[in-house]
Amino acid sequence: MNLDFSPAEESFREEVRAFLRDHLPERLSAAVRAGQRVAKTDFEEWHAILNARGWLAAGWPVEWGGTGWTVAQRHIFEVEAACAYAPHIQPFGVSMFGPVVIRYGTDAHKRRWLPRILDGSDWWCQGYSEPGAGSDLAAIKTSAVRDGDHYVVNGQKIWTSYAQYANMIFCLVRTDPDARKQEGISFLAIDMTTPGVELRPIKLMDGDHEVNEIFFTDVRVPCANLIGEENSGWTYAKYLLTHERTGAAFIGESLAEFANLRRIVAKESRHGRPLSEDPGFAMRLARLEIDIENMRTTNLRFLSAAAGGAAPMAESAMLKIRGSAIRQKIRSLARRAAGPYAMPYVTAALDHGYDGEPVGPDYAASLATSYFNGRKFSIYAGSNEVQREIIAKLKLEL
Ligand SMILES: Cc1cc2nc3c(=O)[nH]c(=O)nc-3n(C[C@H](O)[C@H](O)[C@H](O)COP(=O)(O)OP(=O)(O)OC[C@H]3O[C@@H](n4cnc5c(N)ncnc54)[C@H](O)[C@@H]3O)c2cc1C
Repeated sequence: MNLDFSPAEESFREEVRAFLRDHLPERLSAAVRAGQRVAKTDFEEWHAILNARGWLAAGWPVEWGGTGWTVAQRHIFEVEAACAYAPHIQPFGVSMFGPVVIRYGTDAHKRRWLPRILDGSDWWCQGYSEPGAGSDLAAIKTSAVRDGDHYVVNGQKIWTSYAQYANMIFCLVRTDPDARKQEGISFLAIDMTTPGVELRPIKLMDGDHEVNEIFFTDVRVPCANLIGEENSGWTYAKYLLTHERTGAAFIGESLAEFANLRRIVAKESRHGRPLSEDPGFAMRLARLEIDIENMRTTNLRFLSAAAGGAAPMAESAMLKIRGSAIRQKIRSLARRAAGPYAMPYVTAALDHGYDGEPVGPDYAASLATSYFNGRKFSIYAGSNEVQREIIAKLKLEL
């Protein structure tokens, strides 16, 4: 599957491939390819390697450490890195908080936080959702009340991804309880080591620890940590969400997972014939490949038309819906391809160095867990049902 790129873009692709060949540790790519857990230290190692080359925060302005790459170059890098099974760049600092600070933060904010994202001093997490405020995000209740040059924060966040790794959290907080829902919200950066911040893990059904609850009890946060204007946080929150949803297309990961699916199909057979020759399965595979290619072109089209690396609200909602549906389909077909061997639910197979008794082919051990874990794609970053409503409202004016 290849779009037409210029000779200069093709030579850039070669540069990226050579870099990945020389610098991506084999241990990391083997774990990602096997669908295993990537530890915090693994992410940090890969971030440091990219940062040393100046490629960690590709979309940032050059003066703050960005690359100045075109949309096509960013696409090429994303696809090549994913197809080499590099760990995904953690988005919370690089693709969420960073772009908000660059657009709405003061110079002091930029000097204070952007270099710390790049050198790995800070790991950020996203404090948006609350019990009762997920799809209806503007219903958040966590309050921030001014007391001199501090805010005093009380409330609870939930589903906070990888907060157990984070030392910083960006939060939506209510600063004016009397204003209209969207108008009384502010965007606040909180140091998670401040007294009164308590993290409680939420264990998932596969035994994993990916999300958390965070409780704030009389947490004192300097007013200097407010991004932009008080009570204008909804504007910044939406800006961040368009970056998050554009990234949720996960084109590179889809291409890499599809290549893996093809490898599984090549090894499997049905009724004495190679699975690839089964007309029903071949049709599903072809449909999926067409879907991926369509999404890839659409993604490039939207991003080329948009400034700042994120598609507008409705377009990013489309990318999020299609991207998540495609990844779920790939995982579903991989499970079908392996047949009954995909059924055992082997959580331990997600750990590096797993050497349990194989129940079937080696790739089967993690298929059930990755299938079920992938159900989250259509929920996080705003559920797909709600994304459809956004499209209906903005594009169809319903
Ligand atoms: C793995 C994972 C990681 C996450 N990480 C983070 C994170 O790091 N930070 C963070 O802040 N949040 C995070 N979230 C939260 C996520 O953004 C919310 O789960 C999501 O927005 C849905 O909100 P909810 O869970 O409260 O469900 P609800 O809003 O209660 O929705 C329940 C169901 O009702 C449907 N629904 C709701 N409203 C409508 C409507 N108007 N029309 C049609 N259908 C509707 C939804 O689609 C959904 O199917 C994460 C979630 C998951 C699953």
